[in-house]
Amino acid sequence: MRDEKIVIIGAGPTGLGAAWRLNERGYENWLLLEQAPFAGGLAASVVDEKGFTWDLGGHVQFSHYEYFDKLMDELLGPDGWLYHERESWVWLRKRFVPYPFQMNIRRLPPEDLKECLRGLVRLYRDGNSRKPANFAEWIDATFGEGIAKVFMRPYNFKVWAYPLERLGTTWVGERVAVVDLERVLCNLVDGKDDVSWGPNNTFRFPKYGGTGAVWRACAQRLPKEKQCYGTAVVRVNPHRRVLTLSDGTEVRYDYLLSTMPLDVFTSISALEDLHKAAAQLCYSSTHIFGIGLRGSPPEHLRTKCWMYFPENDNPFYRVTVFSNYSPNNVPDIRQYWSLMAEVSESPYKKVPPTPAYRIEEVIKGMLATQLIASRDDIVDVWYTRLERGYPTPTVERDSIVFEVLPALEKYGIYSRGRFGAWRYEVSNQDHSLMQGVEWVDRMFDGTEELTLWHPEIVNRTHRPAIKAN
Ligand SMILES: Cc1cc2nc3c(=O)[nH]c(=O)nc-3n(C[C@H](O)[C@H](O)[C@H](O)COP(=O)(O)OP(=O)(O)OC[C@H]3O[C@@H](n4cnc5c(N)ncnc54)[C@H](O)[C@@H]3O)c2cc1C
Repeated sequence: MRDEKIVIIGAGPTGLGAAWRLNERGYENWLLLEQAPFAGGLAASVVDEKGFTWDLGGHVQFSHYEYFDKLMDELLGPDGWLYHERESWVWLRKRFVPYPFQMNIRRLPPEDLKECLRGLVRLYRDGNSRKPANFAEWIDATFGEGIAKVFMRPYNFKVWAYPLERLGTTWVGERVAVVDLERVLCNLVDGKDDVSWGPNNTFRFPKYGGTGAVWRACAQRLPKEKQCYGTAVVRVNPHRRVLTLSDGTEVRYDYLLSTMPLDVFTSISALEDLHKAAAQLCYSSTHIFGIGLRGSPPEHLRTKCWMYFPENDNPFYRVTVFSNYSPNNVPDIRQYWSLMAEVSESPYKKVPPTPAYRIEEVIKGMLATQLIASRDDIVDVWYTRLERGYPTPTVERDSIVFEVLPALEKYGIYSRGRFGAWRYEVSNQDHSLMQGVEWVDRMFDGTEELTLWHPEIVNRTHRPAIKAN
């Protein structure tokens, strides 16, 4: 790389990761284009009219990378963070069961417990040598029919919004690790909860400004003149290596890093064959509901981080006690607290036609699941819909991505990030940032992009969130 022009589409964690690394390496010939007026992408945050802060869905910072951790400390300072133990629960049969669910089935009513145990015993007796062809089969082979029926299948349909037979297995890893039956039985006899929270299951959250504070700080530290906000890329000419922007301006590039959705990118690039393939990729939309409440959380929510909801007495798959992440997520923690709910949508899973109906369903669901005691406590409702929330890891996904991404490289185009590369298993903030960083290093040094091509390696170790000295 001598002085070739690099253009980056998107100021989410992937695009900012690339920009940060270019700047860090002292390379100057780059430009970042973002359609929104601010940085952050799906990891942005919003402060609403009543002063409540919301993420676009419950975001927590987990990390697999030392580089990411150091950058987080640098951006907000070691004192800019709050550290938490992950405390997650499943609401089922009118009670909360600690997560991981399979380790705590002793909390279930006797009939469900027996069904879960029967499935596990059968799994041990009959073995599971057959390789699962899809995620539904993977669930049965990993957890047994009982746990699959009571929790795993209904919950996963609620999250993914696609029939589980349509999802592949590569994103969960090919190895089928059977539930530890001995441990499940010991927990049952001992009457003990087996929880995953503890020193290895910590996460951090910005003290002020929600998750988006990180990415705003990142953008602020980069040269202003190399970042254009409120500018959408509307057309790409891959042969001439020219982009057209929403105001009609043309921008030339030598190398292009795109973090916009891959199917949208191919549709505006006139690469018809690649677009035919990319258009087969599936995604689900996500509805985010922020509910601001008077008073303080009830005793049973005081230390909870988030909860999973597999049943149909509510529309959400997950609710976060967002004021537990930072007291500054509400205008005055002595007077208020907050919950944030997420609801998925796809052609297989519809939602009510108007925002008002959707909000009403969420409130009814919060009452039914004992998250809130009375609707009179609600002082604030914030709502948004993300057209693209989750890149669905369908059975066909890998073959599409493995065809389209390398084919784009012939034109000097590299598509990376949550919807740029469509690899859900490496699409959290840390992975996304590192996809940008590793791409830059590859362009300069020829090093491998480990995150994109080897999720099984990068996901092997999880780094506990610990305050830097
Ligand atoms: C509901 C939900 C919960 C999540 N929870 C977590 C979590 O707990 N922890 C975690 O680490 N991560 C979480 N994530 C993932 C996190 O949001 C992503 O890792 C991250 O935002 C992906 O970054 P990205 O840069 O790849 O993509 P994006 O954030 O999607 O950024 C892409 C950017 O490209 C811009 N763009 C698109 N098209 C154009 C165009 N034509 N011209 C110019 N700009 C364009 C977009 O406006 C956007 O800013 C969650 C995501 C969702 C949706």
